[in-house]
Amino acid sequence: MNLDYPITYISGISVQRATLLYSELGIKTCNDLLNFFPFRYIDKTKFHAIKDLQPNSSEVQIVGKITNVKSVAQKRGSRLVATFQDASGSMELVWFKGQKWIKDSLKVDVPYVVYGKLNHYNGSFSIPHPEMELVTEYKKKLQTKMQPIYHSTEKLTNSGVSNKLMRSYIQKLLQQFYDSIQESLSNNIIIDFKLMKKRDALLNVHFPKSQENLAQAQNRLKFEELFFIQLQLVRKKLINKAKIKGFVFENVGSIFNQFYSEKLPFNLTNAQKRVLKEIRKDVASGAHMNRLLQGDVGSGKTIVALLTALLALDNGYQATIMAPTEILANQHYIAVSELVEGMNIKVDILTGSVRTKKRREIHENLEDGTLNILIGTHALLEDKVKFKNLGIAIIDEQHRFGVKQRAKLWAKNTLPPHILVMTATPIPRTLAMSVYGDLDISVIDELPPGRKEIKTVHRFDSNRLSVFKFMKDEIAKGRQVYIVYPLIQESEAMDYKDLMDGYESVAREFPSPKYQISIVHGKMKPADKDYEMQRFVKGETQIMVATTVIEVGVNVPNASVMIIESSERFGLSQLHQLRGRVGRGADQSYCILLSSYKLSEEGKTRLKTMVDTTDGFKIAEVDLKLRGPGNLMGTQQSGVLNLKIADVSKDSKILVAARNTAIDLLQEDPNLEMEHNLPIKNTFAKINRNSKIWSNIS
Ligand code: ADP
Ligand code: MG
Repeated sequence: MNLDYPITYISGISVQRATLLYSELGIKTCNDLLNFFPFRYIDKTKFHAIKDLQPNSSEVQIVGKITNVKSVAQKRGSRLVATFQDASGSMELVWFKGQKWIKDSLKVDVPYVVYGKLNHYNGSFSIPHPEMELVTEYKKKLQTKMQPIYHSTEKLTNSGVSNKLMRSYIQKLLQQFYDSIQESLSNNIIIDFKLMKKRDALLNVHFPKSQENLAQAQNRLKFEELFFIQLQLVRKKLINKAKIKGFVFENVGSIFNQFYSEKLPFNLTNAQKRVLKEIRKDVASGAHMNRLLQGDVGSGKTIVALLTALLALDNGYQATIMAPTEILANQHYIAVSELVEGMNIKVDILTGSVRTKKRREIHENLEDGTLNILIGTHALLEDKVKFKNLGIAIIDEQHRFGVKQRAKLWAKNTLPPHILVMTATPIPRTLAMSVYGDLDISVIDELPPGRKEIKTVHRFDSNRLSVFKFMKDEIAKGRQVYIVYPLIQESEAMDYKDLMDGYESVAREFPSPKYQISIVHGKMKPADKDYEMQRFVKGETQIMVATTVIEVGVNVPNASVMIIESSERFGLSQLHQLRGRVGRGADQSYCILLSSYKLSEEGKTRLKTMVDTTDGFKIAEVDLKLRGPGNLMGTQQSGVLNLKIADVSKDSKILVAARNTAIDLLQEDPNLEMEHNLPIKNTFAKINRNSKIWSNIS
């Protein structure tokens, strides 16, 4: 018997059924069916006492007697209500349909087992349309008390493949194939983590005896699932390290040291120092660096980027910094130029709007090596741009560049330049492990000292007048204010109208010439956008009314108030990014989240999270819990969405254990050659053949 056999080997499954199960659920082999896990269970292992019922219990099972049955008139028709009692209290059973038939069949004063979904209304409990069985009948049957419920489709149900039938298929499968289920983990791991054996885990995940038993089975299967993904990622990382050679930056020389002692305008934070150490170790190792640098908005990634670039210069190489927008590239260029002023370092900028003549000059200086650091946008990726010896590419805001584009940079050289990818969208540790598990990750988890926390409040639209008043006070102090409107692609016309209505009401409240207002939105020409932006940057306007185009990177230290209209329509990471536009200067900054009274539970949680914390990593954790991994950046191409049983937003402990186990294992036995690791080797080989678990960065 072999689990790779098609499911027609299971007695009772016809070719026709098998075809249907394949087209509807993708189940082809016995193994597929075995790994088709229930998505929930009906738990009939426990009996509840009426007095212990909780408003949030879902399905409950109670033993008691009916004391009284009556029809109750309601707006339309009537309902049948039975009073149901156990030793601890009483509640109601309710029927809306088939009342006459039910009324005749109910027996008063005879013990029943009832089961159903609990309703809680006005302090009292009821079960509508309960499943009922006389205790005498119930006792005659010996049944599994936890019933698995499987996902199904309309077509399956219509063709007679009920949940009950699925259950019987899987039961038969387990009877026939139980002995051919191979262990996939080594004994050491099973013992270390007190895991259930594979066979038993599969048996019990389908037919658990109790909640505890189910939890153990699930734990084992989750561990296994995450372990093999991590094994893949960690192995890929080790192989790349061993295989892809990189330039060796062995000197920390005069340029780096001169900058550090003479030019660095502040002390680095401990987090910045730690990250620099990690980078220095990488680039001196002879292997190729492929590192992701995560740091919240304002955590000081630019200076780390520059210091890393200087390491390349010290060793005779060039460096490049690539940004997603022209505005950002400009800001980097200005910041870097100022920082290295007076040193013998040539910095330049290349974007789409650089004129041909200047462009030619840049090309020449790049090729003869006189240009040391080139900053720019996508324009850096054009074929004409050829470095003499590019040693490192630093990429800001990683999610805006695809794999192909990065590969293009590599092709410009004999050896690939070291890669440092910087992202300001914090992603939770567990997600980073799953999505970027084959990269090295550095985290700046500390803000420079002296930052004032941005005060964040949530206000309803009806408070707008007091918000306007607050704006006036801040503007009187010389500050500037952003007002941001949502932009959702599907209803662009409506969003545009909201923005214009908003602009008009702001203009009425803040009349010219005393107040000047900038407006920036997606329908404007780039040149007009830039003009308006520049007016705000220069302080000629006090208010910037905008859609989310300002989300990325703009730096106006004098702006201290961020007002977000219809904030309930924004996602958490977007709110966090927007808020990051203020709090860049020395003054106290504020973020005001305006919303209507109509808020979904999720909307409330988002706004509350924003009010409660400014920590991007905490916000990302909440975001992951709210939305699941599927909607977060970078996850689409990774394995985390195809998980059968584990959930990276909930199973972080298991994930960390699985990753550490994979790391330890590969350290001890890189090629899985030791005898006790044979089960792992076999399973791993099979997974690699059958599926594509791969990370999106190669
Ligand atoms: P981000 O990580 O968002 O790119 P930046 O690199 O733009 O952040 O840094 C934000 C601000 O903090 C800049 O004005 C920068 O000069 C300043 N900064 C960075 N590191 C430090 C530090 N260690 N001490 C004080 N200020 C710092
Ligand atoms: Mg930055």
